Amino acid sequence: MPRRALVTGAARGIGAAVAAALAARGDVVAVHYRTDPGRAAEVAAALPGAGHVALQADLTDPDQVWALVADAVAALGGVDVLVVNAGIYGDHPIATTSYADWQAQWTAILQTNLVAAANLAWCVTRHLLDRPEGPRGGRMVMVGSRGAYRGEPRVPAYGASKAGLHALAQSLAVELAPHGIAVAAVAPGYVATEMVADVMASPEGETIRAQSPFGRVAEPEEIAGAVAWLTSPEAEWASGTVLDLNGASYLR
Ligand code: NDP
Repeated sequence: MPRRALVTGAARGIGAAVAAALAARGDVVAVHYRTDPGRAAEVAAALPGAGHVALQADLTDPDQVWALVADAVAALGGVDVLVVNAGIYGDHPIATTSYADWQAQWTAILQTNLVAAANLAWCVTRHLLDRPEGPRGGRMVMVGSRGAYRGEPRVPAYGASKAGLHALAQSLAVELAPHGIAVAAVAPGYVATEMVADVMASPEGETIRAQSPFGRVAEPEEIAGAVAWLTSPEAEWASGTVLDLNGASYLR
């Protein structure tokens, strides 16, 4: 039987590449989106194999998270694999951001990148523990960031949210191992997606590419391949890993 995967934020960028990598290895995929049903439907329709669906939710709303997991279970017949990929980025220098904007940025980023991830993990864990065949073989991967460790200026809430996501993955990895569920995270450096398109087109983007030993940033497919492996049946022993994916960018 094919494995059933829910990938959040999968209508574009890294999420769309993850959906493609999972479908290519035989999974049936729920392509989650928030704002663009047409694009999500296109991504789902282009996946190899049959049975893929596009499902909508704003993940900052806990009720919509619960409904999304229920919809995925109903549409796919269950969920074996959760990839928490949806996220937002926000530039808010402390010296020049108003107190009101500072509050708004921290709230939005932590809610989207961290609290939503915790809620998704809870709902999928509940499903895995309650399903008739038992939880064994369940997999969760959180898309974190190298920004969690680097002291990146101007994006403290983003870095904090990703550090929290890594901690969430590691805590759940230990707690869920006795149930045969493996949980891991990936920590990419810069990836060529819409999220960082403005940075990449600026002089800062030139500097980032110049500092990379490969002279470039990652393509989404290079992250997706690692996520596919971490969610595979063979990757149980990688549970608890935060896998650095940065093309050796931070070694010098
Ligand atoms: P994109 O901006 O292309 O994709 C982000 C996705 O998250 C979109 O599909 C977006 O949907 C979804 N999303 C955002 N907010 C919500 C919400 N409240 N509810 C539901 N979905 C939401 O970015 P990437 O593909 O680059 O990023 C994917 C992940 O990878 C993110 O977690 C990001 O932090 C991480 N990452 C990215 C790096 C990079 O350099 N690109 C580097 C390291 C990590 P919609 O547009 O409909 O809101």
